[in-house]
Amino acid sequence: MNEETLINIARIPVIRQTKGILKHFKLRASHRLGQNFLIDETVANGIVAAAEIKEGERVLEIGPGIGSLSEILLNAGAKVTAVELDKKLPEVLNETLAGYDNFTLISGDILKVDLVEIMGNEPYKVVANLPYYITTPILLTLLEKKLPITKIVTMIQKEVAERITANPGGKDYGAITLAFKYFTDTKISQIVSPKCFYPAPEVTSAVIVSDVLPNPFVKVKDEELFFKTVRAAFGKRRKTLSNALKSVFDKEVVASALEKSNIDGARRGETLSIEEFAILTDNIAK
Ligand code: SAM
Repeated sequence: MNEETLINIARIPVIRQTKGILKHFKLRASHRLGQNFLIDETVANGIVAAAEIKEGERVLEIGPGIGSLSEILLNAGAKVTAVELDKKLPEVLNETLAGYDNFTLISGDILKVDLVEIMGNEPYKVVANLPYYITTPILLTLLEKKLPITKIVTMIQKEVAERITANPGGKDYGAITLAFKYFTDTKISQIVSPKCFYPAPEVTSAVIVSDVLPNPFVKVKDEELFFKTVRAAFGKRRKTLSNALKSVFDKEVVASALEKSNIDGARRGETLSIEEFAILTDNIAK
């Protein structure tokens, strides 16, 4: 296949073209690496539109695959740095993205590369159709590492998107909800059918848009203790808040902190708002 044909083929993420590229390079989508390639142009354009790219902005793309999303990002004017684990894909991207000078590929595992070094101090947006087998560790790394990220637009499992955007009280509300609420303003921007991927995953997907807050949503004395308290509260879901906290903190500390915070220890962790978790943390810290 000559270069011109491949560039044209890569431009639009549709099934015929994705299959053509895989066939040309004698590749199969790897289930182990969570490879479900986007084959719906409207969805792909929607992801990039949600990222609101301005000319010259830096974007970290996680798992560029064969480059469908990367190409739309590059056409929108982004300077893209992409981290891809599959060692067979640099050869493909070399061709599908030939002609773009604003694309840098780093071969490696997103959970192992040094993101602090890669990003330096410049603001970055993160855009990705994530490999679903490691959605949560990737998202928590992006949030917790104090990176210069302003916006994160990711395709994830719908079920995880619902947990991230849940309100207190239901079974979806948990530690990941609180992490996103603490660091970001997050909304689901589109629900995506399995038919939009090749091969089709077993689950429905969703795109979430997370604007990273300049300051955390609540002010706490000790951020690490805040997340320790949250994890403790959700660690034993069937237990009352008081008993769940006592499996991690001293029981006198728990009793006194609950009383000072005016929170009934018989409640369950999933009923506490982020503000209540913040007050509780500060009273545990005392
Ligand atoms: N962006 C492409 C698209 O939208 O068609 C591919 C998305 S596919 C769902 C996920 C991509 O992440 C695959 O290319 C896969 O090889 C890559 N990947 C899997 N595990 C990874 C890891 N630990 N670090 C970096 N990339 C990874």
